[in-house]
Amino acid sequence: MKGLASNRIGRISQSQTLEMANKANELKMKGVDVINLSIGQPDFETPHHIKKAAKAAIDENYTFYTPIAGFEELREAICLKLKSENNLNYSPSQVVVSNGAKQALANTLLSIINEGDQILVPAPYWVSYAQIDNLAHGENVFIDTTIENDFKVTPEQIEKAITPSTRAFLFSSPSNPAGSVYTRDELEAIARVLAKHEIFVISDEIYERINFVGKHESIAQFDFIKDHTIIINGMSKGYAMTGWRIGYLVAPQWIADSCRKLQGQYTSNACSISQKAAFAALTGEDTYTLGMNAAFHSRRDIVVEGLRAILGVKTNIPNGAFYIFPDVSTYYGKTDGKYTINNSNDMSLYLLEIAHVAIVPGSAFGNDNCIRLSFAASNRDLKKGIKRIRTALARLRQKDK
Ligand code: PMP
Ligand code: GLU
Repeated sequence: MKGLASNRIGRISQSQTLEMANKANELKMKGVDVINLSIGQPDFETPHHIKKAAKAAIDENYTFYTPIAGFEELREAICLKLKSENNLNYSPSQVVVSNGAKQALANTLLSIINEGDQILVPAPYWVSYAQIDNLAHGENVFIDTTIENDFKVTPEQIEKAITPSTRAFLFSSPSNPAGSVYTRDELEAIARVLAKHEIFVISDEIYERINFVGKHESIAQFDFIKDHTIIINGMSKGYAMTGWRIGYLVAPQWIADSCRKLQGQYTSNACSISQKAAFAALTGEDTYTLGMNAAFHSRRDIVVEGLRAILGVKTNIPNGAFYIFPDVSTYYGKTDGKYTINNSNDMSLYLLEIAHVAIVPGSAFGNDNCIRLSFAASNRDLKKGIKRIRTALARLRQKDK
């Protein structure tokens, strides 16, 4: 027996966000005082009324298979949310509930991408986009954005990148890893270019509820692109429910049908208990999650101020999500005598070893000049973590020639 995995597995790499989080946990287990700013998940507990609904679901024996795409009542609640919060009209048959937004993304890409189709992905992008595209045998076409433009892609850049093989445009707003939030006008201008070329938009809106500048804007609001738009969303971030694994996609009927067919052969329904919990989240009161958003907002201010005070570090101001993506490239080519920093990978290992702060290298997100910090951590840890980073960076000096 050959011990080689399939070519398909060879096409993808490990999730670096999850890997850094594992490394940090391993060090913690050894007794090292690590500050973990690597993984992106709310540090809040799931709200009480959601947990209560899950316990009731078990007692009421919601323990059988559910429809592949999820309970009808949950899909109805998602449609009601889309109508009341986003002014979007969808029917429950257009919703597929999955095992996290990750599976919703995989369902979508596997359903619409043929071998060699190009997918436009503004960089920096969330780690798994490029890998799920690879899994679907799509070809990633990265479009580099700049810190000066708040890491946002422009319609002109998109127009330039389009070829006859372009099939889809995949992005998030609010974005992981830079916290960029596109305005309504920016989305409309992008949508016009994509609609002209009949390109699908995969709009990852999982950070919808973590927004510091106002109302969430979905690209699906423009009628001329709606039948080419797939919305990805889920419960993980907005409701502090990462472990429950409930995500969903909302799409034109034929795409939803394809995703349901795929999921029916692959994983069946998402966990029945978690679905009941998600229903309670969507239909219950909002006070707790609004409080989470306020906490992320004030933590954003702490990290922006702390990082901008470090010599040579540049940042944009994240307007949503809970990540910041500072440019630390002025430190490349420098050394503390033992470690030499030449890229974001060296930097993240240096900060882990010397400062005991876990972050994720920007290379995982397609921008090697930067590193990603998650500010889904306590104020105390954030202040301590930034202080440690500042001290560790101050030790670096130019390498002797
Ligand atoms: N999209 C983005 C931009 C993310 O950061 C994440 C990380 N969780 C996901 C999708 C996947 O979320 P889930 O936990 O629902 O699979
Ligand atoms: N999305 C989070 C992150 O970027 C969770 C980890 C993951 O799913 O990759 O850190």
